[in-house]
Amino acid sequence: MTETSSVVLHKLKKELEVLESKKGKGTELITLYIPPDKNLNDVMAQMREEYSQASNIKSTRTRKNVLSALEVIMQRLKLIKKVPENGLVLMVGTIPRGIKDKIEVYMIEPPERITTYTYHCDSQFLIEPLKDMLEEKDTYGLLVVDRGEATIGLLKGKRIEVVRRIGSNVPRKHGRGGQSQRRFERLIEIAAHEYFKRVARYASEVFLNTPDLKGVLIGGPGPTKEFFVKEGYLHPEVQKRIIATVDTSYTDDYGIRELVDNASETFKDLEVTKEKNLVQRFMKEVVKDDGLAAYGEQEVKDYLAQGAVDTVLISEDIDSYRITVECSSCGYRGERTVRDLKGYAEACPKCGEDLEVKDYQTTLDELQELADTTGAKVEVISNETEEGQQLKAFGGIAAILRFRPRG
Ligand code: ZN
Repeated sequence: MTETSSVVLHKLKKELEVLESKKGKGTELITLYIPPDKNLNDVMAQMREEYSQASNIKSTRTRKNVLSALEVIMQRLKLIKKVPENGLVLMVGTIPRGIKDKIEVYMIEPPERITTYTYHCDSQFLIEPLKDMLEEKDTYGLLVVDRGEATIGLLKGKRIEVVRRIGSNVPRKHGRGGQSQRRFERLIEIAAHEYFKRVARYASEVFLNTPDLKGVLIGGPGPTKEFFVKEGYLHPEVQKRIIATVDTSYTDDYGIRELVDNASETFKDLEVTKEKNLVQRFMKEVVKDDGLAAYGEQEVKDYLAQGAVDTVLISEDIDSYRITVECSSCGYRGERTVRDLKGYAEACPKCGEDLEVKDYQTTLDELQELADTTGAKVEVISNETEEGQQLKAFGGIAAILRFRPRG
């Protein structure tokens, strides 16, 4: 069975919703994030250390629960021969269940590589790092460079990964004067050229091997970065994808973070441009006879069910819910779309008793779920642009079709 990544992410999202609701009575729920390259013996040693520390916990109940959680973790660790490719998340703790408490164990293989080892003990499980992995994942290549050093990184969604640091052996220019000065300067330029070639080779290798790279950002202090770009050191495929050069004060790990911060306007423009293009594509189709466009919740759902949708466009302020309602006295069941979930009240159309909400889902989730089954994409469109307003005029839910089904 092969699941598309959107299905994997969707399932994880649902699982996290459940995990988020779990609460211990005290500081007794343990979460472990283990990176793939972490030595399990070291983890085991830390667990033993935590175990001996835990015997100092004052509350008898908390102490007992932390100790049993640690025991379960150590048992599990013994069974693991190899940490999975992306690392492993372990969540263990006692969850109150009516009169009887129960120790619950969750093992999750994350969809992305865990980079930081974390031991966390709290009244709730630590789910934020996993949640971050669910965020939209546009990947950008990052390079900060000057004559002294260079750093290569990747931006995945909101996460920054530093991939490689490159030192330079280019001597600093200083005045000597005369013949030897010129020769010295020529040697410096040769060294700089070799260094730039090296930086470009590493950066090109990293960026070419990154799937779905959306673009490349180059940063650094002064004019070196522009020189580096203008001289075309990078592989032509990478060179083509440069979307901005940005001033940063540093060229180390900190410089990589600066690059992302300082490029925020660029990212915003890209996002806005993408949104504008999508709505414009829809508008072009909708004015044609038999154009590849649909709008309105029901029509879009029908086309989704037929596998005819390429991309669903949904306005960011569509905050309606699809609910399943039931009447407990006569058994009537029905579905509704409502804007206000908490304020929903309706009399049963058959017997007049109050209807109960049995199940609910946001319209966005419902559309996403339908889209997932046929490989359609869902894009949320902000209201900030003129195009966003145009979409709202079409009820806020529209689709660009792959084909127009007959019938
Ligand atoms: Zn009824």
